[in-house]
Amino acid sequence: MRTESAHTTGPAAIPPTFAGEDADPAALLIVDVQKDFCAGGALAVPQGDSILPAVNRYLEAATRAGLVVYASRDWHPSDSRHFTQRGGIWPPHCVQGSSGAEFHPEVKLPASSVIISKGIDPGADGYSAFDGQAPDGRRFLDDLRQRGVGHLYVGGLATDYCVKYTVLDALAAGLMVTVLADAIAGVSPVGSAVALEQMEKRGATVRTNVAFLDRIARPE
Ligand SMILES: [Zn+2]
Repeated sequence: MRTESAHTTGPAAIPPTFAGEDADPAALLIVDVQKDFCAGGALAVPQGDSILPAVNRYLEAATRAGLVVYASRDWHPSDSRHFTQRGGIWPPHCVQGSSGAEFHPEVKLPASSVIISKGIDPGADGYSAFDGQAPDGRRFLDDLRQRGVGHLYVGGLATDYCVKYTVLDALAAGLMVTVLADAIAGVSPVGSAVALEQMEKRGATVRTNVAFLDRIARPE
């Protein structure tokens, strides 16, 4: 059943749909829900942990609906230029193989999740999942294309950096994008508000996607 919240206005607002309703398959991408970005981590996002229940609800619903689930992770070499000691703006975080780079233990990623590792290049920030690669070395966009994904649902951390750059890249690649408003958290409130505005302006739909959950959580 389609609820009122699924109806929106404006050319950029597209009702959320899933595999059965989209012309192309949909996928869920959870961005960088890693220990270092959560409470106690090296670069904790304020309220980062607060999104975990919503993230898990979307993961469960998407899995049940047969969506491809992607989980991106920041995966930096220790000498990344992204870090303060090499001229970047961030304290060291999510260093490859470190405990802080692990996904938050409360995130219930399905075993079939495709892990997208990004920030691997020591000379680049790697904010966007589209800078990342799947375990087989394929670029994220190539993996999406191969599966025919046309609609990406996005949640994760942080709204004003990795989520924003990922969403803008997805839109630039011609994908339909729905940002799951209750499953994101940002570094700064002002920066996050600006980021959401930018994403919407470029064509993303931002919503607390209760209707999406209702529809895809129901077994056929
Ligand atoms: Zn990083």
